[in-house]
Amino acid sequence: MKYPEVRNYRDGSFVAGDLPFIDVYNPSDGSIISRVPMSTRDDVDAAVSSAERAFPGWSRTPIKERVQVFYKYKALLEKHIDELAALVSEENGKVASEARAEVLKAAELSEYACSLPQIAPGEVLEVSRGVECRIERYPVGVVAAITPFNFPNMVPNWSIPNALALGNCMILKPSELVPLSAGRIAELLREAGLPDGVFQVVHGGRETVEALCDHSGIAAISFVGSTQIAKVVYRRATANLKRVLALGGAKNHLIVMPDADVEMASSNIIASMSGCAGQRCMAASVMVAVSKVDHIIERMIAHARSIVPGRDIGPVISRAAKERIERYITEAEDAGATVVVDGRGVVVPGKENGYFIGPTIIDHVTPDMRIAQDEVFGPVLAIVRTKTVDEAIAVENRSPYGNAASVFTESGGVARHVMDRANAGMVGVNVGVPVPREPFSFGGWNESKFGVGDITGRGSIEFWTQSKKMTTKWNREAGTNWMS
Ligand code: NAD
Repeated sequence: MKYPEVRNYRDGSFVAGDLPFIDVYNPSDGSIISRVPMSTRDDVDAAVSSAERAFPGWSRTPIKERVQVFYKYKALLEKHIDELAALVSEENGKVASEARAEVLKAAELSEYACSLPQIAPGEVLEVSRGVECRIERYPVGVVAAITPFNFPNMVPNWSIPNALALGNCMILKPSELVPLSAGRIAELLREAGLPDGVFQVVHGGRETVEALCDHSGIAAISFVGSTQIAKVVYRRATANLKRVLALGGAKNHLIVMPDADVEMASSNIIASMSGCAGQRCMAASVMVAVSKVDHIIERMIAHARSIVPGRDIGPVISRAAKERIERYITEAEDAGATVVVDGRGVVVPGKENGYFIGPTIIDHVTPDMRIAQDEVFGPVLAIVRTKTVDEAIAVENRSPYGNAASVFTESGGVARHVMDRANAGMVGVNVGVPVPREPFSFGGWNESKFGVGDITGRGSIEFWTQSKKMTTKWNREAGTNWMS
């Protein structure tokens, strides 16, 4: 194996345990690169105990001192970007530029955490003569983050810097498909000066997640993954009286108007559907083509055909994912849709065992087809045709998801019309991947997010803290007032 077996990280050290392991694959060539332990309730207990010991010291450290760790951590992410990006490529399959972008985004998330002392100070007001009310933010305690396979470095960093800078101690449960980046994150946090016990990593799968949801020592959980598991985690952890923010899957619709700029629309749509092999929760999944947009579709087809698998687009995560995605394409074809660019059966020379699928465009999809409804999570774009923008909005609105939506047009009026009516938490105009950048928060609607707040930016501050409301009176002359 290229990498030593993965270990849990507790109290500032990697710990070996007598645990069952599963193999970790490199999706580009199907080779086994490591193995990851499937942790039990005992491992979760040990991690929580260690975090509980660290919590009093860390939570009482002034926030201006806590964020010093994240200035250094950001610099370390940048210093080691080549190595960190290579690790992401190795375990997830992303091409180098995508993996680097992921690490740079993690650095930006750390940069935001450094600004928390400026953004999240307390408030104080003299509410009546001699009487002050103040609000201060306190961390919620020991928290957990459960993350998916598609961003092994960035998605953990959606939660880590803000939750820790705000004074919490965290247990990370990374995806068992991509467990390697988490170990380097732990090492870099330690090198940046994070005290032992403030951050732990517990690897595993279902049993580990269930133990986290059930543990009475964990106050809050952030989850990112599929809607199916987001529901399981949200229900189980809230039933155990935890605060939960669970981000789920997506089916993002891009509405394309005939007046859209051909080059901007076609290149953005293809980048959105094919980037990270379509394995982004913000990826374009359905293009709703309004009226006569064939000139744009023709250009999209040219862009899609110019993408070389293995060079411009990486593999999907597993053999099972490749087979599932190819089944969706075949089923759509059988149902009467037209596959105009076909990425099935792609073989990359020298990487014959990799899980590659080329960009795939399927035209004349109808809204009742499964390809128009389910999250496919691969480089596949379904084109649904409508006559009017309101019909297009109706198609978008019917999706149970609600992560992102975009409109491509030169008309400000049409853009505003769609922005108002799209049933999604993140909406773009002439943008294929409308990810809000810091300081703006990331989070969808409907079945793409369960819980209140957002996972990054300002929206996360409420989630990772609880406010204490204090009323003080020191001068006797203040007398009694209507409340006292
Ligand atoms: P997943 O739901 O299979 O796994 C997510 C996490 O849940 C992993 O840590 C996994 O170990 C754990 N898990 C899996 N099965 C479980 C079970 N039965 N019980 C308890 N825990 C379980 O998701 P994935 O395949 O790793 O990631 C892809 C999904 O994540 C897609 O649906 C994608 O849209 C979504 N995603 C959403 C966002 C967002 O911001 N909304 C961001 C990234 C990914």
